[in-house]
Amino acid sequence: MTQVIRKAAELRDKVAAWKRSGMLVGVVPTMGALHDGHLSLARAARKQSDRVIVTVFVNPMQFNNTSDLDKYPRDEAQDLALLEAEGVDVLFAPGVDEVYPDGFATTVSVAGITEPLEGAFRPGHFDGVATVCSKLFGMTQAGRAFFGEKDWQQLQVVQQLTRDLNMPIRIIGCPTIREEDGLAMSSRNVRLTAEERELAPRLHTVMQEAAGKIRDGVPVEGALNDAKTELKDAGFGALDYLELRTVDGLKPATDLSQPARMLAAIWLGDVRLIDNIAV
Ligand code: AMP
Repeated sequence: MTQVIRKAAELRDKVAAWKRSGMLVGVVPTMGALHDGHLSLARAARKQSDRVIVTVFVNPMQFNNTSDLDKYPRDEAQDLALLEAEGVDVLFAPGVDEVYPDGFATTVSVAGITEPLEGAFRPGHFDGVATVCSKLFGMTQAGRAFFGEKDWQQLQVVQQLTRDLNMPIRIIGCPTIREEDGLAMSSRNVRLTAEERELAPRLHTVMQEAAGKIRDGVPVEGALNDAKTELKDAGFGALDYLELRTVDGLKPATDLSQPARMLAAIWLGDVRLIDNIAV
């Protein structure tokens, strides 16, 4: 049975009892509307910890766009059923007032790696992420937290945050889970129209083609420019970014002298898709 807990105090008592008996607690922070990407994190947590907490909290602080927040899909009954099937111990689903009570006044802000890419296009987003993760780590007292590579920059930010603040938690990155046609799973994908859904996997294909060209020695800028043209011609909307960055520090990469990651964010109708791949 997966127990649903909404209050931090109740969660604390539960976790304290687990820890007294020497158990390692794993947490998977999510915003719900769970899909196989989230469940893969729950499975990793199950394997690498004794007790698993999945948190579901649509964090208003990390949305820079109120319509995106309003339209964010929510289905707690289905989430609970999926977590039951994975043998998750606790679904922690606090209300907004539980996380941000009256008088809440602290923002956690990571500098540097939060500035480009998502940080440039979603002002305040990573402050929201860093703040809520700090809170969730404090509330769950977990020893391990599982994050998806789907949000590559976020994973780097959380790693930096826990390192910088000496948080007693290990951050574990897990691979991106994709639909059969290559589209990275995302809760927002349900908002795509049938036509958009058909086009969406082109993003991954085009990125893979560009990565292949770069590996074959085509100059990075040329390969990325070709990919941008292809995406535009295919019918995508505005491109926020398509870039090659170093794995270490997310600095712009002009060649493959260091391990690199290709990252993209692009609009399709009113849905913003993000993806990233190793190059
Ligand atoms: P979200 O609910 O979108 O905030 O995501 C919660 C966690 O699930 C984050 O660590 C995401 O990176 C991860 N996640 C989301 N989609 C995927 C996916 N397709 N594959 C792997 N992890 C994912």
